[in-house]
Amino acid sequence: MFNRRKFIEKAAAVGALGLMPTVLKSQKLSALVSPKKGDLPVIISTWNHGIPANAKALEILHSGGSVVDAVEQGVWIPEADPDNHSVGLGGTPDRDGHVTLDASIMGPDGNAGSVCFLENIVHPISVARKVMEDTPHVILSGEGALQFALQNGFQEENLLTPEREKAWKKWAEESNYNPEINWENKPNEFHDTIGLLAVDSKGDIAGACTTSGLGYKMRGRVGDSPIIGAGLFVDNEIGAATATGMGELVLKTLGSFLVVELMRNGRTPQQACEEAVLRIVKKVPENKIRQVGFIAVNKNGEVGGYSLQPGFNYAISQNGKNKMVDCRSFY
Ligand code: ASP
Repeated sequence: MFNRRKFIEKAAAVGALGLMPTVLKSQKLSALVSPKKGDLPVIISTWNHGIPANAKALEILHSGGSVVDAVEQGVWIPEADPDNHSVGLGGTPDRDGHVTLDASIMGPDGNAGSVCFLENIVHPISVARKVMEDTPHVILSGEGALQFALQNGFQEENLLTPEREKAWKKWAEESNYNPEINWENKPNEFHDTIGLLAVDSKGDIAGACTTSGLGYKMRGRVGDSPIIGAGLFVDNEIGAATATGMGELVLKTLGSFLVVELMRNGRTPQQACEEAVLRIVKKVPENKIRQVGFIAVNKNGEVGGYSLQPGFNYAISQNGKNKMVDCRSFY
């Protein structure tokens, strides 16, 4: 619920921050309970679907897989789940009834790959990994990304489930497009990316981010998730960050890159996520009516998360526990 007094107090705090040394800025906002250093491996991912995704990623690490294998296979779980309406198979389509996918992946060697506006492939994250490992490029889009996937043995599959088709047809009767805050948490609704970050026991870091994007978006719309530095960024010396929510706000502030750079300059992951949200509050007017959430991890295994609006949560797998955390928010 929007609380005007809380908002005015926080807005005053943001205004005052402009005059303060930058480290103090975040310290003022953050009361973080950090895990102690060295609690590795750690896996952190967005929303409720993070729990099974984290479990899978950890299983891959325990069975000797690389940190890139872990993030890739972790996000396979929501990608293949037809009941998850915001990622891969069963994703909510665009306004013309096409499920179009965005995904990105980054590894500890600084390499990155992504696909956007890709149709008919259940695991876009694996196509993104192929782009990363087997091409000189970073992003492939649309037809070209599909062609590349098919050439590499991926099978085409209709991702629009009968249930999503029915919901889309109902929506199309009025075609009312208004991305409400946290509609991702409503059953059967519109958007909800999985961004998953992992630090293995050696301290190597990777991240993956995959989504069907905003439900009923304009055809051809690409969000933040496949844009390296916006929806995902990894720097193996420092840490990693990923984003969810209204991608346009993340794109306008290059949010995940910003979070990692803030950690490079001494912020904890929690402080860095808070400052990236504050940047959106300061710079992007729609911040009051949209949701954005960031999660981050540093090389020591400390984690953080912060969102614009209440309602965002994330999953942390660390020290033998895999649990949901309700994220603190600016509003
Ligand atoms: N960030 C995604 C996008 O804008 C959607 C989401 O995370 O909910 O495509």
